[in-house]
Amino acid sequence: MTTKTNSNACIRCGVCCEKGGPTFHAEDQRLIDKGFIHTRHLYTIRKGEMVHDNVRSLVMPSTGEMIKIKGVEGSWQCAFFQEEDKACRIYTHRPQECRVLKCWDPAELLAMYEKSRLRRKELLSGIAGLWDLVEAHEQQCSYAGLKMSLEDVGGSSEQTAIKAVLSMVRYDQEVRRLVVSQGGVAPDMTDFLFGRPLDKTIEQFGYGVRQRDSRFSLVRI
Ligand code: SF4
Repeated sequence: MTTKTNSNACIRCGVCCEKGGPTFHAEDQRLIDKGFIHTRHLYTIRKGEMVHDNVRSLVMPSTGEMIKIKGVEGSWQCAFFQEEDKACRIYTHRPQECRVLKCWDPAELLAMYEKSRLRRKELLSGIAGLWDLVEAHEQQCSYAGLKMSLEDVGGSSEQTAIKAVLSMVRYDQEVRRLVVSQGGVAPDMTDFLFGRPLDKTIEQFGYGVRQRDSRFSLVRI
């Protein structure tokens, strides 16, 4: 929670917390393991998903998996930011990126930014069944696969490509529905387990999915 001042000190303006929550690194795992931050407050950006890189101010495909704190509804503002007094609700247990961020001098953040990012594997691979589902979802619904199929839309194999894209979207929806209805997983944990829903993130690639009853169709947007 920092901003530039003449004295190069944080004046708690809250701008950095309003721009979005931090990405988690290996050293933050203890915050989750000890229950200071629950996974329902987190979401996953999967490899290849288009992201706004706050550090570089660019929209680009994610080079790897990232676990982040969710934003409040309709904005990027970190879910733990308390607007009334510009305070952090988990200040004592805030993640490492928040500790090193100095908006007047990003050197320390840049040095750690792409290093030792925490992944779902570190948190979930010990949970039999659940991790298998996450891995299966990644295989069926990877952004590399989605991008490849979308590139074929408009070409000679368009129908096959559309079928493949819609099949990924259906799989993504179904696995979320199943873990909640049959696995007892809280609905607000699915964006951590499987990343953001594919029928939303596909819009980053210029396409939308329309659904009427059980019929899906792909549209350009
Ligand atoms: S965890 Fe706290 S310090 Fe970090 S972005 Fe959120 S509100 Fe700001």
